[in-house]
Amino acid sequence: MRICVYCASSAKVHSDYFEATEKLALEFVKANVEVVYGGGAVGLMGKLADTILLQGGKIKGIMPRFMNEVEWAHKDVTDFEFTETMHERKARFLEGIDGLVTLPGGSGTLEELLEAITLKRLGQFTKPIVILNTKGFYDPLREMLERCVHENFMHEKHLEMWSFVDQPKDVIDALMTAAAWDKSAIDFATNK
Ligand code: AMP
Repeated sequence: MRICVYCASSAKVHSDYFEATEKLALEFVKANVEVVYGGGAVGLMGKLADTILLQGGKIKGIMPRFMNEVEWAHKDVTDFEFTETMHERKARFLEGIDGLVTLPGGSGTLEELLEAITLKRLGQFTKPIVILNTKGFYDPLREMLERCVHENFMHEKHLEMWSFVDQPKDVIDALMTAAAWDKSAIDFATNK
């Protein structure tokens, strides 16, 4: 399995978030999952990569060249791909993966997650999306997405596009049991 992980670049977040990231990384190594991520060396991204590398797991970084020029790339991640733009990087994140996991993060993480949800709604991305809701961090997002559905900005079926889990140990199971999705999602993308 190849899983893309979106998560924070910030190094200043609560230790609970680092702990959850480490636990998830260990789950992935145990299950022989290859992780694709943003290539960063700090914050939750750094924790994810450090843990996977320490355990001899597989990890690939995808980063725009300008971030490498300011030395944001993780020095020990050897499988690296550089893109010209952030847009190109986001597209590459979603190619050839079996699922997507989002950990807590800032605007970058939220933007990546919402783009993936939007592409899934349009049937352009069809893989499971799992949101790790450590410490209830994503409760407001969950409420917002559900409000979109309940106020008819989105279709009831769109609730099947994502799943929220509280614990890292439940992430792989959520990926495996996610509702099937395909290109026909375009047929109900707009709530007519
Ligand atoms: P955020 O969730 O706002 O921390 O943003 C995460 C997104 O921003 C990811 O796409 C990251 O790759 C990118 N990003 C921001 N800062 C860095 C950094 N120091 N190193 C690598 N990526 C970063």
